[in-house]
Amino acid sequence: MAKTGMERLEELKPQIFKCIHCKACRFAYSGKPSQKGIGEYKGKQQTVLYEGMVDSCPAGIEYGWEAYWNAGKIWIARSILNGDLEFSEAVRDVIMPCITCGMCSAQCENKVPTVDIIESLRAACVEAGIPMIDKHQLVDRLVKELNNPYGGKPEERFKWAKDAGLEKYVDNKDAKIGYYVGCTADYRQTNIAVATCKIFEKLGINFTLISDEVCCGSPFFRVGAVDTAQELMNKNLENFKHLKKVFFSCAGCYRTFTVDYPKWMDDEELPFETLHAFELIARLIKDEKIKFKANKDLKGKKVTYHDPCHTGRHFGVEFEQELIEQSTNLMFDMRKLDQKLEEWFEKPRTILQQLEKDVGIEFQEMYRIKMNSMCCGAGGGVRAGYPDFSLRTASLRCDEANAVGADILTTECPFCWRNLSDANELYEHGMQVLGILEMIDKYDLLDVQEKPSEDYIIEMTRFEEKEEE
Ligand code: SF4
Ligand code: SF4
Repeated sequence: MAKTGMERLEELKPQIFKCIHCKACRFAYSGKPSQKGIGEYKGKQQTVLYEGMVDSCPAGIEYGWEAYWNAGKIWIARSILNGDLEFSEAVRDVIMPCITCGMCSAQCENKVPTVDIIESLRAACVEAGIPMIDKHQLVDRLVKELNNPYGGKPEERFKWAKDAGLEKYVDNKDAKIGYYVGCTADYRQTNIAVATCKIFEKLGINFTLISDEVCCGSPFFRVGAVDTAQELMNKNLENFKHLKKVFFSCAGCYRTFTVDYPKWMDDEELPFETLHAFELIARLIKDEKIKFKANKDLKGKKVTYHDPCHTGRHFGVEFEQELIEQSTNLMFDMRKLDQKLEEWFEKPRTILQQLEKDVGIEFQEMYRIKMNSMCCGAGGGVRAGYPDFSLRTASLRCDEANAVGADILTTECPFCWRNLSDANELYEHGMQVLGILEMIDKYDLLDVQEKPSEDYIIEMTRFEEKEEE
């Protein structure tokens, strides 16, 4: 039986009471200790000092007062558990405009799993009978009717594949490798879906798209509509269970399958292994199976990279929580965690460094990266529910990219792509926003040295060394 939000909140009680209200979680450092600050930069939103500790919680920056910063929300969770506060629409309106970006979690020296707490709090709020905000009710209704929150027709989910001549991959019966596309790339950023498939095709991968694919449930896990999310999860598990490996191009879908599903499945294991497509490309580079071709349009362009929260920090926090759980005392080996995080965050950078070498781009990091990367503003139900806040946050991130003189802002998530791209246009940041795989496909950069075998791909794991059991 799946757990309720209130049960999860009760389970998290020891963690919630670990919070000492020090408020360290409202600031973030650069994420790269050797990196010098770049000083003050006057961007489209405000003048920010990119040096030392910088305000980092998008909800706190937007709304300003105590309750909206993470420490306030943890105090709300505590008050609910103590019976000092009841759920109400006023409580909902404080806990909802939070992007669940996890920046607070990454900063907390007490290792409080803030995103888990905030999501459980929201789920308990819905269970207590507090109606979701109108915009979240709308997407909930749409996904129940159409299996996607955008209002797209179910039969048009893979229209992009037909249009791009990729239809043969829909329900390709012999394939053991799948590509879960997700609603944003299926109905909005089809450029990302097409690029991913074309790269798989050039690599000779026999893969399948599953016509019964439905929304991964991410927005619904985030806003507390857990029943809706679980229904979607069960459909996807049924539809993908015959596969050995499933690839993703969306950070949110990848995180939802990999991190959320096992939690809400009552600790059962997924029937297949999951990987993001950028992990495949990074491994192929390391194993010298691919290189890139030179390109005169990209030569000399300054390219920066935005770590999506869902493929970056959220995994980092999970690794940290796993180590804490495995530890038999209050100590855990930080070096082990640091090594794992280093390997994890280097994956997209391996691709960008190879592009620098082969194509001639100039890869330039922003001030805040990796575990301390500033959010794009799209997640946690914020893009749908609070679009102005969402776009202002994306513009803050674009400011960081402008501050290092980027011509191209890359990322590896169609939802980040959408928000950064919209803010780039709305606030006139003057950059080009591209997915890394999209850039590889758009400029025809892939130079295949040796096609990977099916076994090589199926055996590929998230980390090069198989983790100790
Ligand atoms: S969550 Fe952590 S960093 Fe934030 S106030 Fe609580 S103890 Fe301090
Ligand atoms: S998850 Fe992000 S937006 Fe929400 S409280 Fe934490 S830092 Fe702020």
